[in-house]
Amino acid sequence: DRSVCAPLPVLGRDVLVPLVTGGEAVYAALDYAASAPALQRVWDDVAAYAPYYGSVHRGAGYLSQLSTDLFENSRTTIADFLGCRADDQVVFTRSTTDSLNLLAAVLPQGTRVFVFETEHHASLLPWEQRAGVEVTYLNAPRTHGEAVDTLEKALAEREPCGPALVCVTGASNVTGELWPVRELAAAAHAHGARIVLDAAQLAPHHPLDIAELDVDWVAFSGHKLYAPFGAGVLAGRADWLRSADPYLAGGGASRKVSRRTDGGVDVEWHTTAARHEAGSPNVIGAYAIASACQALTEAGFDTLVARERELIAKVRAGLAEVPEVKVLSLFGDDAPRVGVLSFVVDGWNSSHFAAALSAEYGIGVRDGLFCAHPLVRTLLGSEPQDPGECGAPEAAPGERSLNAIRVSFGAGTPDEHVDRFVRAVK
Ligand code: PMP
Repeated sequence: DRSVCAPLPVLGRDVLVPLVTGGEAVYAALDYAASAPALQRVWDDVAAYAPYYGSVHRGAGYLSQLSTDLFENSRTTIADFLGCRADDQVVFTRSTTDSLNLLAAVLPQGTRVFVFETEHHASLLPWEQRAGVEVTYLNAPRTHGEAVDTLEKALAEREPCGPALVCVTGASNVTGELWPVRELAAAAHAHGARIVLDAAQLAPHHPLDIAELDVDWVAFSGHKLYAPFGAGVLAGRADWLRSADPYLAGGGASRKVSRRTDGGVDVEWHTTAARHEAGSPNVIGAYAIASACQALTEAGFDTLVARERELIAKVRAGLAEVPEVKVLSLFGDDAPRVGVLSFVVDGWNSSHFAAALSAEYGIGVRDGLFCAHPLVRTLLGSEPQDPGECGAPEAAPGERSLNAIRVSFGAGTPDEHVDRFVRAVK
């Protein structure tokens, strides 16, 4: 293992870089939950288009028309991938975080938001930033049934009038566990609330159908779905998006702008997704996401899920042979999950363990609290601490861990990478 990676001097510093043999990276990047490597197919599609791009929605020239078509067709491809209903909108954003902040910005005044404390900070935090929105934080459930009961009870206690929104993740970025989205959506709707699904971890690993799950909105990021950084999606019900002020004000979002006789300015905003997409759009990002969606659809989620189950089983079996390892779980060891696992190693500081995996074995995992501080603390049974600069507090060797190690993988992960990971942990 030591022979396949070595420190190389780069820009005067010793940093570990992937070594390449026969065109294949041998550094095992097992951090797909943070950002998954873009698919070759996506790079090829983007590279084929790159020489031809022009301004979207803004030019009469051929390249401008081509780019506009590509951008709008990407929207349609993504709508198909998500199983959108006929009147749903697909809004391009920068990321899941941006999508959920956009939704927070368009909530009607007085909306009550319900969110489990177990959420990623991107789905936990945007709501309270909106003036006039009240947030109810729900305690971590220990079974799917308890999750539904907790939500039902909280919704039943609220005044039945006024808008309400439930925000829930499809698959945890810490434990990889699936959440009972369909049941939570049914509970939300039974109480007159709407629901948004944080699909950042679900969409790359699992089939997802808005209409079938009966969720009102879905948010996800391109860089976790095998496309490059910089673009994300909020898809779903048009009404709140259409009636709210634009998320960004500027060209592209406005249909007509005129000076008033009193000297001010009147603006007529678009009622389509363009309302929230002011400025020149990230057409390459949108096209890359559409290309990744198409690649996943062509590969087939049956195949992808079956393959990921094999990898999960391998990692679980390997870790089970190491008595010092404790895998973190909210819903129990057998709960269905995607290829994301967090664990602690008795007697080890998680940050040192992750650093050793990288430096000595050429394996990239993540350590820390994974932008889900309340959840990781619940799982570790630890108290809030000052997280320090990188959100990863130190525990002295031998002390209870204050943070965890996360390994995550997905489409294209070779057996060799997870085998090496298991050997290294052992
Ligand atoms: N939700 C979940 C469940 C995530 O895992 C992440 C990324 N770690 C996000 C939201 C935020 O995604 P992004 O950083 O792309 O905005």
